[in-house]
Amino acid sequence: MATHLVWLRNDLRITDNKALHAACCDPTARVLAVFIATPGQWRQHQMAPRQAAFIHANLLQVQQALADRGIPLVCHQCDDFAAAIDWLVAYCAQERVDALFYNRQHEINELRRDRQAERRLSGQVICQSFDDSLLLPPGSVQTGGGEMYKIYTPFRKAFIQRLSEFDVSSLPAPKPREGGALPVSAAPAAFDYPSAGVGADFPAGEEAALQRLRVFCREQVQDYLQQRDFPAIAGTSSLSPYLAIGVLSPRQCFNRLRAECPQVLENSDSGAFGWLNELIWREFYRHLMVAYPALCRHRPFIEWTDKVRWRDNDALLLAWQQGATGYPIVDAAMRQLNKTGWMHNRLRMISASFLVKDLLIDWRAGERYFMSQLLDGDLAANNGGWQWAASTGTDAAPYFRIFNPTTQGERFDPQGTFIRKWLPELADVPDNDLHQPYRWAEKQQRTLDYPLPIVDHKQARLETLAAFEAARRGE
Ligand code: FAD
Repeated sequence: MATHLVWLRNDLRITDNKALHAACCDPTARVLAVFIATPGQWRQHQMAPRQAAFIHANLLQVQQALADRGIPLVCHQCDDFAAAIDWLVAYCAQERVDALFYNRQHEINELRRDRQAERRLSGQVICQSFDDSLLLPPGSVQTGGGEMYKIYTPFRKAFIQRLSEFDVSSLPAPKPREGGALPVSAAPAAFDYPSAGVGADFPAGEEAALQRLRVFCREQVQDYLQQRDFPAIAGTSSLSPYLAIGVLSPRQCFNRLRAECPQVLENSDSGAFGWLNELIWREFYRHLMVAYPALCRHRPFIEWTDKVRWRDNDALLLAWQQGATGYPIVDAAMRQLNKTGWMHNRLRMISASFLVKDLLIDWRAGERYFMSQLLDGDLAANNGGWQWAASTGTDAAPYFRIFNPTTQGERFDPQGTFIRKWLPELADVPDNDLHQPYRWAEKQQRTLDYPLPIVDHKQARLETLAAFEAARRGE
C-alpha cells in the first residue's frame, strides 16, 4: 500500500483542494497530512498575530474535517524554512512516504523552500505540486511577445479569453478513506507567536466562508458597483481573509458567481463582472510577482521612484498608524484596521495615499504596517496595492494624482456614518463639518478631543510633487 502525504500550507480547506484531491485519488493509498508552522519566518515578514490566530483556528477545523475522512493531520512547529525541511524529510522517512502532494506558493522564499525540499526528497519520494491558489497559473496570460502584461486592462482581456481553455471547475472534498473516521489525535499547539483575537466578523472554517460567498453572490453582487466604494455599507464580500490563507479558493468564488450570474462574462456593466474584475486584480498582482520576483523584495516597479527623498519622521508615521492625523476618513480607516484587521478597499487607497503623498513617508513603511495588522495580509495584493497608491508600481496611479483626504471623505462617507462609528469623539459634529472638524470647533469655540490636521494638504501636495519630480529628473 502506497503512502501519500499532503503538505498543507496556504490552502486550509478540504473542498476544491488540488493537492489533497490528487493524494486521495488512489482509494487504496494511506493518506496523511502535515502542516508546518514557521513563526520565525512569520516574524521576519511581520505577519499579523491575528492572521496567525486565524490560521490556527482554521487548522483546527481542517484537522477535524480530515479526521472525519480518515486522514490524520499532524501539525508541527519550527522556527524557519530550513528546520521545516529537515522535519519534513525525517517525517517522510519515518512514515515511509511514497509521494508528497502540495499546492504551490509563489513568493520567492516559499519557492526556494519547495525546491530545496524536493531536492532533499528526490530518489525517495515522488513530489507533485499544483497551481491551486489562482484561477489561471502564473505565466499562462502573456502578451504576443511572451511577456507578462504590465497594464491591467489588456491583462484582464487576455485573462478572460484564456479562461475557457483551463479547467476551473471546483473539486469535491475527498471521500472518507476505507478505515472510516479517526479520532483527532493532537490538536495543533498554540503557535509560538504573539496571541491575538480574530473577532466575530470572521468565523473560522470553510463552511462559514462558503456560506458568506453564497449569500454575497445571491443577494449582494448585483449592487456591487453602486455600493463597493462606500465603507459605511457592507457592499463588498469581506472574503479576503479566507482567500488569503486558502480557506476559500478563487475557483469556488468564480463558480459560485457563474452559478448565480451565468452571463457574468458577457455583461461587463454588471455587478457580477465588477466583482470578477477584483478577483482578476488579485490574479494580476500574483502573476506580476512571479514574473518580477524583485517585488517580493519590495523593490519599486518604476525604478526612478526609488530616488524619491522620503521623509524620515517617526512622529508622523505613528500618528498615521494610530489614527491621529486630524483627517477623519484616514483616522477612522486606521482605527478600523487596528481594531479588526480588515479595511475597506477605498479606505486602503485613501490611507495609503495619505501616508505616501501627504506625509511623504516611504510606502514600504505603510506596506509593513498593513501586513502587521491585516487579517487578509497577502504579499502580492498588499505590495500591489501599496505600489499602486504610491505611484511606484506598474499601471499605478500617476504620481501627480494625489487624493484629497477631505473630499474623499465627503464623497465616500457623505453622512459620516463610518467616521462616527470609529471616531466617537466626533459624534456631535454636524455632517457638513465632519470632514474638517477643527473648523467647526473654532466656530463654536469648542475644544474637541481630536487632533488638528498634522499636515496642511495643499502644502503637502506641492512638496510631494516636487519630491517626485526631482526623483524623476534623477536629482
Ligand atoms: P471584494 O471587493 O469582495 O473583492 C473580492 C476579492 O478580490 C477580495 O477578497 C480579494 O481577494 C480580491 N481583491 C479585491 N480587490 C483587490 C485588489 N485591489 N487587489 C488584489 N486583490 C483584490 N487585499 C488582500 O487580500 N490582502 C492585502 O494584504 C491587501 N492589501 C492592500 C493594500 C492596499 C494599499 C490596497 C489599496 C489594497 C489592498 N488589498 C489587499 C486589496 C483590497 O483592498 C482587498 O482585497 C479588499 O478590500 C478585500 O475586501 P473584500 O474581500 O470585501 O473584497
